[in-house]
Amino acid sequence: MTNLVTHVADAVAEHGDNTAIGFQGAETSYEEFWGQTGAFATALEERGLGQDDRVALYLPNVPPFLIAFHGTLRAGGVVVPMNPQYKAREIGHLLEDSGANVVVALADLVPFVTAVQDETSVDHIVSVGGDAEGASTLAEFLEPGEPEIAERADDEDAVQPYTSGTTGQPKGVQLTHGNLASNANAASELVPGGIRPDDKQLGALPLFHIYGMTVVMNTALFNGAAYYPLPEWDAQEAVSLIEDEELTIMHGVPAMYNDVINQPNAETFDLSSVRLCGVGGSGIPVEVLRQFEALYEPTIYEGYGLTETSPITHFNSPIEGRRVGSIGKPVPDVDSRVVDDDFGAVPPVDEGPIDEDEADLHEITGEIVVAGPNVMKGYYGLPDANEAAFTEADGRRWFHTGDIGYHDEDGFFYVVDREKHMIVTGGYNVYPREVEELLFEHEDVADAAVVGIPDDRRGETVKAFIVRTPDGDVTAKEITDYCLTNLAEYKHPREVDFVDELPRTTTGKVQKFKLREQEGDA
Ligand code: ATP
Repeated sequence: MTNLVTHVADAVAEHGDNTAIGFQGAETSYEEFWGQTGAFATALEERGLGQDDRVALYLPNVPPFLIAFHGTLRAGGVVVPMNPQYKAREIGHLLEDSGANVVVALADLVPFVTAVQDETSVDHIVSVGGDAEGASTLAEFLEPGEPEIAERADDEDAVQPYTSGTTGQPKGVQLTHGNLASNANAASELVPGGIRPDDKQLGALPLFHIYGMTVVMNTALFNGAAYYPLPEWDAQEAVSLIEDEELTIMHGVPAMYNDVINQPNAETFDLSSVRLCGVGGSGIPVEVLRQFEALYEPTIYEGYGLTETSPITHFNSPIEGRRVGSIGKPVPDVDSRVVDDDFGAVPPVDEGPIDEDEADLHEITGEIVVAGPNVMKGYYGLPDANEAAFTEADGRRWFHTGDIGYHDEDGFFYVVDREKHMIVTGGYNVYPREVEELLFEHEDVADAAVVGIPDDRRGETVKAFIVRTPDGDVTAKEITDYCLTNLAEYKHPREVDFVDELPRTTTGKVQKFKLREQEGDA
């Protein structure tokens, strides 16, 4: 039996009295949690649902997410997580495409589901946190029962998240029981001594996204540790939760770490209970990492991954040592290469990170590709996308990440930028990340993003959007001069806009397409 909830059942057998979920002062033990997943699985089975049926979760980080997630898998169903920031139009596509029969939604979000229900196969809506028209409450839906764990093979679908759709319609990513279990186990081993039953993890990363789902929730529940969900990101609340509950593991996207250090009372925070800080989702600016580590005890370890890879493929190991500016080495069982357009191997540099100004990036970079048990089965119902995403070579199926990077003789990998973010200006390639790293080093800059905007003469031109620190009064001209002093002339932003905040996804990524659109509207 390889259903991934078997790992949770093992933790229940060994650590039944431990806290599985700590939420707003209330604690749910492993025994209680397992009982709740049994009631959810029974509720599905009594309605004739289970094996391969899709259950969509339209929830922030609240305990019912975990109950419905593991209850669905226990019954042999497939979870379709949906971003709770999505509106009717966006979930309509996900529900239609996945063929979901059940939606578990926050009460306030139920109207978005009923608005599109007719175009979908949804016949049960379950509301969480209150009554809603057209839905039964979770308490009404649950049925007492302790069903057996449904048999599932390693290569059968478990979860089908959707890509965020920055390059067209969101694609359904088929992650199997084997994909997810292998990655949660690999992620558990990256923590010194493994994740322990007395660990307490901050659940600030959204559960609908693979980073929060595998690396935070499942690593906790596979190991008898406690998971503390935070429904909405708020730096002050997150820090209070860490301090009050003495949390031991924190994962976040770079924007979260940047938020913590930019709080007016940042110097008073006590994060000494934390034994591991992980970061990923986008590259953490080196300056943000250094400022965080100057203020607090824990070290930040950077990792890298994608929804399509369950997610972790590379990590800086606290056990073997880290290299700042690197995404680390491939995690156990995962292979990675840097390849050119013909899938030829790009040789490693001696030692990274290299000074990009001095290196000819063309010579040393290529696309990062990965292979391993964590790589998705494929995009759901999209043969052309699958054709483009994989290359068969040396008996392995390699997944194309779409990220440009390089590697060094010691086995560390470095992401230069996402291929599609590259700016071509007057025939030169500019990777926004390099300019952003420099901007973060400026004392008046709290946040920054760089994009390419259309330019008649150069094709594209470099533009920076900057959030100043509360006391910062740097001018556009000073920013331009600062970049000209520190970078090759063609890389400096010719335009600078000061904004109050940058548009970000729930997973903390800057929505560069919005910045470019804004430009188009101007
Ligand atoms: P889409 O694929 O639609 O653009 P997305 O970017 O939200 O959606 P995810 O699967 O969440 O999709 O993100 C994967 C991407 O995140 C990687 O391909 C990479 O560009 C970026 N990423 C993740 N970790 C890091 C890191 N440590 N450094 C740099 N980039 C990272």
